[in-house]
Amino acid sequence: MSKRIYLSPSNQRNNTYATGGTNEMAQCDKIAKATETALKRCGFEVKVGKSGDTMQNRCNESDNFKADIHMPIHTNAYNGKVTGGTRIFCLNSNGRKACQAVLNELGKISPGTADSITYQTGLYEINVPKALTVYVECEFHDTKTGADWIRNNTSKIGEAICKGLCSYFGVTYKSATSTVSSKKVLDSQGYKKGQNSDGVLAIKELLLLAKSLKIHNQGMDENGGFGDGTEKAVNGLLKKWGYEPNGIAGDNFIKKLTAGIKKKI
Ligand SMILES: [Zn+2]
Repeated sequence: MSKRIYLSPSNQRNNTYATGGTNEMAQCDKIAKATETALKRCGFEVKVGKSGDTMQNRCNESDNFKADIHMPIHTNAYNGKVTGGTRIFCLNSNGRKACQAVLNELGKISPGTADSITYQTGLYEINVPKALTVYVECEFHDTKTGADWIRNNTSKIGEAICKGLCSYFGVTYKSATSTVSSKKVLDSQGYKKGQNSDGVLAIKELLLLAKSLKIHNQGMDENGGFGDGTEKAVNGLLKKWGYEPNGIAGDNFIKKLTAGIKKKI
C-alpha cells in the first residue's frame, strides 16, 4: 500500500524574505507544490494543506487523511546574518530516521552548512498529529544568499525532500526526466534511418498511402531509402500513438499502421 504524506506549508505571510519581495508563506506553498508533484510521481499519496490555513485545521486534515508522515514546510530566520542550512525537527528518537533521510538530501543542496536535527517537544504540529512529524526548515530566508537560493530552487527543494522520503520508505525515486524516458517503446528492433532495402521500400509505400488518407502529413524521402523524412513520419506517428519516438519501424509499427489504413479504406 502506498504511503501517505501530509504537507503543511507555512502560513506565515508576514515573514518577509531578504530579497524578491516575497514571504515565507508564498515560497513554502511553492515548495509544497513541488514536493507533491515529486512524491505523486514516485507513487505516494499526498495531501497539501490549503494555503494560509491554520495549524489546527492542518492537523485535523492530516489525521483524517491517515497520514504516515506529517510534514510542516517552513523557511527559517535568525538575525539576517546567518545562512544556517537545513534544520529538521521531530518529537523524539522515533522520528529521527525519517528526519535524517530528508536531511541527507536537502542538507546536501542548501547553501548553509550548519544542518541539524533537533527534538522539539513544544511545537503544535509536532505534538498534535497522529502521524510522525518531520518538520522541515529549508534554509534561512533573512539573508540574501538564503532568500535567493530558496526562491530559485523551490523545485529542487521539493525533489530533495521527496528523495529523502523515498529513501526512508525504501521506494525508488523517479526524477521527472526518468518518467519521460520510461515512455513505452513500440518496437525496439526494426527498420531505421540509414537503411535501404525492399522492407524499407514497403514501409515508405505504407507511409505514403497513410499520408494520402491523412493519417499523417509528412512527405517521404524521394530516394535514398530510410531518410530524414521517413524518420519524421515514423516518429510523428509514434508520438501520436503515445510511444517513445525512437525512429524505429518494426513489426508492431507496421501492424498498427496497417490497421489504421484499413479503418480508413
Ligand atoms: Zn516558519
